[in-house]
Amino acid sequence: MDAILIDRGIDVASFTKRMYMMPGAACGWSGLGELGGVRSWLNRGACHSRPIVAHELGHTLGMHHASTPGAEYGDMSDIMGGTAGALRGFNAPHLVDMGWHDGSIDLGSEYGGEIVALASSDDPRVIRAPGDGDGVLSVSLRSRVAHDSTLEPFASDRVFVHRAYPGQMRQTMVLASLGNGESWSGDLVTVTAQNIGTGAAKVLVTRGCRTAPPTVEIDRLDVAPGGSQQGRVRVMNNDFGACAPASFVAEVESEVELEAGVELRSGETWTRAGAAVVPGYHALAVTIWREGTRERTASTLPIYVDDQAPIDAAYLTAALPNPRSNQAELNTWIYFDDSGYQGVELERDGAIIDSIAPTDQAGRIKLSDKDLRVGVHTYRVRVIDRAGNHSGWSEPASVIVRVRSF
Ligand SMILES: [Zn+2]
Repeated sequence: MDAILIDRGIDVASFTKRMYMMPGAACGWSGLGELGGVRSWLNRGACHSRPIVAHELGHTLGMHHASTPGAEYGDMSDIMGGTAGALRGFNAPHLVDMGWHDGSIDLGSEYGGEIVALASSDDPRVIRAPGDGDGVLSVSLRSRVAHDSTLEPFASDRVFVHRAYPGQMRQTMVLASLGNGESWSGDLVTVTAQNIGTGAAKVLVTRGCRTAPPTVEIDRLDVAPGGSQQGRVRVMNNDFGACAPASFVAEVESEVELEAGVELRSGETWTRAGAAVVPGYHALAVTIWREGTRERTASTLPIYVDDQAPIDAAYLTAALPNPRSNQAELNTWIYFDDSGYQGVELERDGAIIDSIAPTDQAGRIKLSDKDLRVGVHTYRVRVIDRAGNHSGWSEPASVIVRVRSF
């Protein structure tokens, strides 16, 4: 179709939104629009339908359908729902998401007062609240004023509660349309409509608090070898909703010193590092208590403090078990280390070829190395203890590879 238009001298690419009207088409749909895209199409009678033109253009602007829980087109207050052939405005979440409305109030813990009809030019028109863990809630009044004069009577003078997902091009959802004196309650948010008149209503919107155990994480900060090791503790307050800051007490079961007693808001994180210096194994165990309750969360990190390098590995041997293969097998012996081992590193011809092969105790260690090129290859090994100390390199051992295998 673009080719035909270009033939007629129309610079198709210069149009940021393109609507193709096809009065002679026989498609099964009346209109189609690319969600957040450029093109939309209308056929037959839809070419003359202002509501369908507006609806398909709305899709190209990034608006999905205005829905109710049982019906994708069920929100009759929005041109992106089913409007029974009438031109109509947009619901509150679509207006805010499109950037066509900026008079909204973001709810803290509570709003009690007047809102004015969404189609009017005064404020406040929309109260927005976090959507109980999912999306964003909008509270708005729809009345038959200004461009909302064609609202269905059953959608007029009602306080709407919508859930939407700003910026995600997903359906908006009507959770409630409240008449005078009616209430809707979600998980934490409650909306009550009062004194609804044409153009204004009084609403009470409250948001509660749900507490949850904090997240406690400990990770190893500093793996440099030597006589001290650092751990880092992170505590996150997971309380949800309009919660007062909570006070947490850290109880640390080792000689690692941490500050005790910290006040955190919902979602806020406290991070503190501590170091262990006394040689040996330490369980950096942290218990976080919510002050004034029995609720606690615990986490543990093993830390090994050791300022002695391990003894070098001994008796390294290297061999080709099958002379016609190009795979070397290596054996070595490692001695007891007071903090235990992270593993063994293998060096071939002066370059470390293996990241650490894990082993945690003394004794015989087997390693292998395959796909060797023809020639002489010389190996050495060294061991790394749990505190990160490296031994020296072992005595070398060599193999000669004579054939390539395929
Ligand atoms: Zn549609």
